Amino acid sequence: MRAELITIGDELLYGHVLDTNAAYIGEKIAEAGVDLIYHTTVGDRSELMINAIAQAMNRADIVLTTGGLGPTHDDITKKIVCKYFKRQLVFHEDILKELEKKYSAQGINMPPINQNQALLPQGAKFLENRIGSALGIVIEEHGKTLVAMPGVPTEMRLMVDEQLIPMLKKKTPDQVIIHRKLRTIGIVESAIFEKVKSIVEDKSKIDIAFLPSFRGVDIRLTAKSDDEKKAREAIEVIETRFTEKLGKYIFGFDNDELPDLIGRLLVSRNQTVAVAESCTGGMLGKLFTDIPGSSDYFLGGVIAYSDELKTKILSVPAITIERHGAVSAETAKHMAEGARKLTGASIGISLTGIAGPDGGTEEKPVGLTYIGLATPDGVKAKDFHYGKQRKRNRQRAAFSALDMIRRYLKSIE
Ligand code: AMP
Ligand code: MG
Repeated sequence: MRAELITIGDELLYGHVLDTNAAYIGEKIAEAGVDLIYHTTVGDRSELMINAIAQAMNRADIVLTTGGLGPTHDDITKKIVCKYFKRQLVFHEDILKELEKKYSAQGINMPPINQNQALLPQGAKFLENRIGSALGIVIEEHGKTLVAMPGVPTEMRLMVDEQLIPMLKKKTPDQVIIHRKLRTIGIVESAIFEKVKSIVEDKSKIDIAFLPSFRGVDIRLTAKSDDEKKAREAIEVIETRFTEKLGKYIFGFDNDELPDLIGRLLVSRNQTVAVAESCTGGMLGKLFTDIPGSSDYFLGGVIAYSDELKTKILSVPAITIERHGAVSAETAKHMAEGARKLTGASIGISLTGIAGPDGGTEEKPVGLTYIGLATPDGVKAKDFHYGKQRKRNRQRAAFSALDMIRRYLKSIE
């Protein structure tokens, strides 16, 4: 079963409102085994809306819309739907009564304009709206279905969860779509591709997508089938092959996040950590402390941005900075060791780099970052080479630091 989503509203096109409805619906209806093939956004203009609906009804079995169901002048979805299906609006006394009850329960008289909400296209079914006034509308014709839902995200979500998904599941009793996400860090997309080319090019029925971000590259595996067990097995086969090729880069699956994982690893190994941050200015400390319970393993640390502070608080010898520079493996090592000694943590981690956009030289270009790691087993530093964007460089550095801790704790490399 193929579906198309139309999100309606000028504000979505202007970029004033982020289209969160599309993301929500995309995720939910895939779980119901429906294949979303298009997503269109259209403004509040009748001729364009009717075109969008006509096109969608042509190429999909089920068309979902959100937005434009309110009672005011710019909400015209109902009118357009009637026009497309050549149906009249019909007044429903019982719906009006329910609506008036809702308002009086809140102690207000219903504004007369809301009487529109009791009008439905002839022959349409409706989806209840427990928390708002606009009902959802369902029209079935020639084996195809249109479902129009309100734009207000909370109302739409409740309607999708409680009514749309069960309805879709009934229509696709046997279809399942299963996703599995392998989360990698420390390897770029193109290098992953080189390693797994043979798997990707193997004509399996699994869809494979690479999704890079500053957190690393996620590999998403998708299986569509009418047999859930077979779909899961097929995913497992591919997952095993990926794991063989990429084992040490895979830090987790699905909703696993690296900071949580590091926290659990530290606790299970009875270790603590402290940070010495220069270029990241506290971002690594934030990643640790975002997690409830991080006080069990995160002691704290120092933001040492100036050379002076690196020397004064972290005991980086002035001569080291003079000889090798603040952005150097030597300084990073001293910083990590300094954080460890200062706090008594078992692991000290440091970051020093040229975040950009200025400050780079031929020898030390923007994006060069050193991460130091001091542990009971010794001190080391590693160089990382990011790009030109300050924000991204800092984010990537913080995650690389987490990865260095992960690799140490798991004895990788
Ligand atoms: P409407 O149903 O068109 O009157 O929209 C009601 C409210 O929901 C407005 O504040 C819209 O900005 C918001 N809204 C409509 N469509 C979306 C969407 N696709 N994503 C997020 N918010 C939306
Ligand atoms: Mg609107």
